[in-house]
Amino acid sequence: MLFGYFSMISEILKPDTEMVISFSGGKDSSAMLSYLCELYPDIPKHVVWADTGFEHDGLAKWNDEIAKKFNLIIHRVSNPNKDFFLMVRKRKKFPSPSCRQCTSNLKVGPIETWVRQNVKTKNIIMCSGLRAEESVAREKLQPLKLDTQMTNSKRTVHDFLPIHHWTEGQVKDFLKSSGIPLHDCYNYLSRLSCQVCIFNKKRELKAIKANNPEAFEKICELEGEIGFTFKPNGKLTEYIKSKFDNQMGLFD
Ligand code: SF4
Repeated sequence: MLFGYFSMISEILKPDTEMVISFSGGKDSSAMLSYLCELYPDIPKHVVWADTGFEHDGLAKWNDEIAKKFNLIIHRVSNPNKDFFLMVRKRKKFPSPSCRQCTSNLKVGPIETWVRQNVKTKNIIMCSGLRAEESVAREKLQPLKLDTQMTNSKRTVHDFLPIHHWTEGQVKDFLKSSGIPLHDCYNYLSRLSCQVCIFNKKRELKAIKANNPEAFEKICELEGEIGFTFKPNGKLTEYIKSKFDNQMGLFD
């Protein structure tokens, strides 16, 4: 399987191919970045980070430091009209696993806009660190496909998931061997995401309350302000004490 995808990549590589690497500063995108630099040292790379406005403190510097290891720079993008909080205030509701406006408006959209405006080559490969192990939905993703939204008469864009088949253990081992550290948030969370993410399970929300109380409090205050709860089963402070948990799998 692995060799199949990589031989397909070889077929689509052109002399003018450039890679756009979606980067968050988390373990998966860091491992992907290192892996791609190792596999394709000569292909020009654009590392793009979408800042949602609810990122961990110091993440910009953290991301710059990782990119610097590969002699690359981070292109920080954001939605010019809203961040996470403005989006929630405008809609008077939080995004949810089944309505992920945050991902489309604050991450995918800004990255695609940046690519349209800044990457002038005809052949682009958009790389993302999604892994099959993370969810049933992600398991079903094709590791390499033509991006029909981004492709037009001027450019051909493919979407590529270079570490789709990797386990979490492989990711951590690879990072260790590459000398790339894990962000501090991994001391209490399994993923680096927004400081509080709609996909956080109850145990993670409890850990956020203990380790990053300011961020937890921001969500509680916003619940009061808009009259809408972050989780469907009551206010966040009550939810983390309740018997309910988010039954939806990560990214399903
Ligand atoms: S990290 Fe979570 S809350 Fe933030 S944009 Fe992604 S899904 Fe939404």
